[in-house]
Amino acid sequence: AQKEGDNNDVVVPKMPTFDYSPPPYTGPSAEEILSKRKQYLSPSLFHFYNKPLNVVDGRMQYLFDETGRRYLDAFGGIATVCCGHCHPDVVDTIVNQTKRLQHSTVLYLNHAISDFAEALASKLPGNLKVVFFTNSGTEANELAMMIARLYTGCHDIISLRNAYHGNAAGTMGATAQSNWKFNVIQSGVHHALNPDPYRGVFGSEGEKYAKDVQDLIQFGTSGNIAGFISEAIQGVGGIIELAPGYLPAVYSTIKKAGGLCIADEVQAGFARTGSHFWGFEGHGVVPDIVTMAKGIGNGIPLGAVVTTPEIAEVLTRRCYFNTFGGNPVCTAAGLAVLKVIEKEKLQENAFVVGSYLKERLTALKDKYNLIGDVRGRGLMLGVELVTDRKLQTPAKLETLHVMDRMKEIGVLVGKGGFYGNVFRITPPLCFTKEDADAMDYTLAKM
Ligand code: PLP
Repeated sequence: AQKEGDNNDVVVPKMPTFDYSPPPYTGPSAEEILSKRKQYLSPSLFHFYNKPLNVVDGRMQYLFDETGRRYLDAFGGIATVCCGHCHPDVVDTIVNQTKRLQHSTVLYLNHAISDFAEALASKLPGNLKVVFFTNSGTEANELAMMIARLYTGCHDIISLRNAYHGNAAGTMGATAQSNWKFNVIQSGVHHALNPDPYRGVFGSEGEKYAKDVQDLIQFGTSGNIAGFISEAIQGVGGIIELAPGYLPAVYSTIKKAGGLCIADEVQAGFARTGSHFWGFEGHGVVPDIVTMAKGIGNGIPLGAVVTTPEIAEVLTRRCYFNTFGGNPVCTAAGLAVLKVIEKEKLQENAFVVGSYLKERLTALKDKYNLIGDVRGRGLMLGVELVTDRKLQTPAKLETLHVMDRMKEIGVLVGKGGFYGNVFRITPPLCFTKEDADAMDYTLAKM
């Protein structure tokens, strides 16, 4: 967003003071690690930056490289670190549980698992009381879709264009962006028009998009379906808030067609949107199945599916379990995360700081034509860059360039959207107004 005549020398923003110095680093250099990564890790792994960062330490909303340099982590490990990197309460819980019992199987009892299940159920509305733990968001969505199919006896599922729900056989079908799909998967998923207020054909008129779901059911299925899956705010898709009125109208259509409504809360859940604990609550709907991962473990591999006792019953038809899902170290961490969110009022913080940052970013949009849209809720914000506002031409190269420059001066953001031109701002929920100032200042100077 450099203005004509501006000096190109970026002044490094004043970062808030932070009382932590990482211990000296004695490991291999970034170059050595990169060379091993190229040789031994899958070539499918990508990185955002020309020169990826060697991350050595993390504390709360900050990451540190091998020289001890501090970076503001405004991406939060892809919306995953919710209460802060290495939060002391979470770390202590993990260490204590690991010393006592590192693994147990579903054959035995362990309170770390049932206590967290009880705590999760208490955060959900209605009769969403039965929890099944998984290891990731993909696995949670696979299970949710299977449950919907078993319960209804139908195969057809509807998801939204531009959605991301994971990358295994079933979820890749529900994911609806060509760059995330391999075309060998036959999925039984129909993709509805995305109720995207910025790029969608009906703007913010949620009910008009909802009609497309009716059409899909009427003309693309037998009339009965297994279910509908959607995020409340699309994350990977570029922080897209579903148009108002859409979800209530679609939920009612899905129920009429005998389907179950699945809320994918992998990114938008766990207090991130600030106004509510779950993203779907912001739309005034109650799903039949809720899936979650990412923030639930603050970075520890953990996911979950929660549904009603009546629906959960379908899983008793066969043996269904997985080896690691509900590992006591992970579930103990999950309970610690919930307690930190409550103790430190992180949901309220996400609301206050997120609203403040959104205001600042919106003010930047008024100043710089490169910013086409600013959106999102709480600490799940998106800034879409375009080279032409009227044509909404994605500013792909500019996005990469700005990200690289921001990294150079110490601020890390993510990017996403189908065209890769949306900054994704999803920091740990302990992000402060001073952090928001540093970030806003950095963007303004690009
Ligand atoms: N659902 C959503 C909304 C996601 O954003 C993601 C990952 O980014 C997933 C599901 C898949 O989760 P995981 O990467 O843990 O498999």
